Amino acid sequence: MKNIAVYPGTFDPVTNGHLDIIRRAADIFDEVIVAILVNKNKKPVFSVEERLKHLKENTQEFKNVKVDFFDGLLADYMKLKKAKVAIRGLRALTDLEYEFILANTNRELNGEMETVFLMPSAKYTYLTSSMVREAYSLGGRLKNCVPASVEKELVEKYKK
Ligand code: ADP
Repeated sequence: MKNIAVYPGTFDPVTNGHLDIIRRAADIFDEVIVAILVNKNKKPVFSVEERLKHLKENTQEFKNVKVDFFDGLLADYMKLKKAKVAIRGLRALTDLEYEFILANTNRELNGEMETVFLMPSAKYTYLTSSMVREAYSLGGRLKNCVPASVEKELVEKYKK
């Protein structure tokens, strides 16, 4: 049986930290599904279509990585995809409390799934999508944080 992992997130926008985790997961699992969570309560900067495009463009080199989106519970989406492992990235200790609660809740909802935490390269430890949005919305630029095509679109978005 194929060992399928799902990497869920908002990816608004995808950062080099997310891509670092995807590369590590692709090395370990037979198949990795990067799944954009469509959260109707959040107003994202990039639409689901734009985020799908960014992720597809930047994961082309990994033959075992697919990109998808879902709404509702991750626990249900995992069953649908016959995936056992949910991947989460752990940056600093500040991520731990939230991730601990989330993993336990998911375990309650779907007793078959396991959450696996991967650490990015140290240089991405302080990188978050929200910081990227904040910086670009105020006219700043950050080096080595997002793929070039995403940076171009970020600049365009905030010009409007
Ligand atoms: P963020 O937390 O930046 O808003 P997401 O909701 O898209 O981003 O995060 C999806 C997953 O990716 C989470 O597990 C998050 O901890 C992880 N992640 C986000 N940024 C990084 C990073 N720079 N390095 C490693 N993992 C990250």
